Amino acid sequence: MRAAVLTGPGVVEVAADWPEPDCGPDDVVLAVRAVGVCGSDLTVFDGKRAVPGLPWALGHEAIGDIVRVGANVAPARVGERVAIEPNFPCLRCPACAAGRTAVCPDRRILGINEPGVLRELVAVPARFAWSAPRGLPDEDLVCVEPLAVALAALGRAGVRPAERCLVVGAGSQGLLVCLALQALGAVPVVVDPHEGRLATAVELGAAPMPADGLFPVVFETSGAPPALETAVERAAPDGRIVLIGQSAVPARLSTFTVVQRRLSLLGCLIYDHPGDFAASVARAGELRPGRILRGRFPLARVSDAFAQARELPGKTWITFEHLEVAPR
Ligand SMILES: [Zn+2]
Ligand SMILES: [Zn+2]
Repeated sequence: MRAAVLTGPGVVEVAADWPEPDCGPDDVVLAVRAVGVCGSDLTVFDGKRAVPGLPWALGHEAIGDIVRVGANVAPARVGERVAIEPNFPCLRCPACAAGRTAVCPDRRILGINEPGVLRELVAVPARFAWSAPRGLPDEDLVCVEPLAVALAALGRAGVRPAERCLVVGAGSQGLLVCLALQALGAVPVVVDPHEGRLATAVELGAAPMPADGLFPVVFETSGAPPALETAVERAAPDGRIVLIGQSAVPARLSTFTVVQRRLSLLGCLIYDHPGDFAASVARAGELRPGRILRGRFPLARVSDAFAQARELPGKTWITFEHLEVAPR
C-alpha cells in the first residue's frame, strides 16, 4: 500500500510498497480518507523533531472508514466513518488515573514516536477511533483533533463570554482558537506578521490587533520566540497567557513584567482522554472547524503540501482517493 514517508530532512516521498498494518484484538483498521497537516508535523518534516528512524510515516490528524476490526471489537463498527485521536496515553500511571492523560510519561503519539497516519490503511486501538456524527462533513471531521487542542486551551484559561482575547499567531491552531472564542461569545483579536494568515483570521471574524491596548487573556499559538514577547507585552494586569505554540529556542521574558502585572503563564499540552476529544467531536457541527481549511493536495502531491504548508494561509490537508467514497 502507499504511504507518505519522510526520507530525510525536508524530503517526503510516496512509498508504493509500505507494509499493511496488523490488526490487534482491540484495534480497528481504517482506510484513510484525509489527513490534516499541523505545526508538529512540519517540525518533523524539517528534521527539528527527532523520530525513531527513517523512512518515517508522517501525520497524525486522520479520518477514515473502518474496514476491519479485531476480535474484541464489535463487528458492527465496520463501515463507520471515524476521526483518530492520535495520542494514546498508557491509562495506568498516576497522571492517567487522575484524568490528566496529556502528561502521561508513556504517551504514544502517532507521527512522532509511533508511525504516522499518512498511509492508505492505519490500525489504532478502537477507543481512539471516534465515530463521526451523522452528516458531519469530512472537512469538519478532519479538524476535530486540532479543535480539541483549542477547546482544551480555552477551558484551561477559563475564558468567559464577552472577554476580549488576543490570539498571537494566525496559523491553523490560532484560527481554531478564534472560532472557539467566537462560539463562546468572547471576542478574538489577532496578530500575525504574515498578511495572508492575518487576512484569513479576519475573514473568519477576528479583529486585527490595534496599536495599543491590553488583554485579559492572550493565546500564544505560533511557538515563535518573539511572539511570547508580544504576548507578555499585551497581557493586562492579572492576565492569563495561554501557551499552545512550542519552540526549543529560549525567548526573552522579564520577570519584572510578569510579577508586576501578576501574570499567569499556562502551558497547554493537547487534551485529556477521553473527555476533551469527545467534546470536540460533539461540537464540530456547531463550530464548523473545516472553515480553516485552504490548501488541498492529493496524496501524490504530498511533497508539495509539506513544502508549502508554512506559507499557505489556513490549514493544509491531504486527501486520499478513498475520500470520494460517500460517507456513512
Ligand atoms: Zn495536530
Ligand atoms: Zn499514563
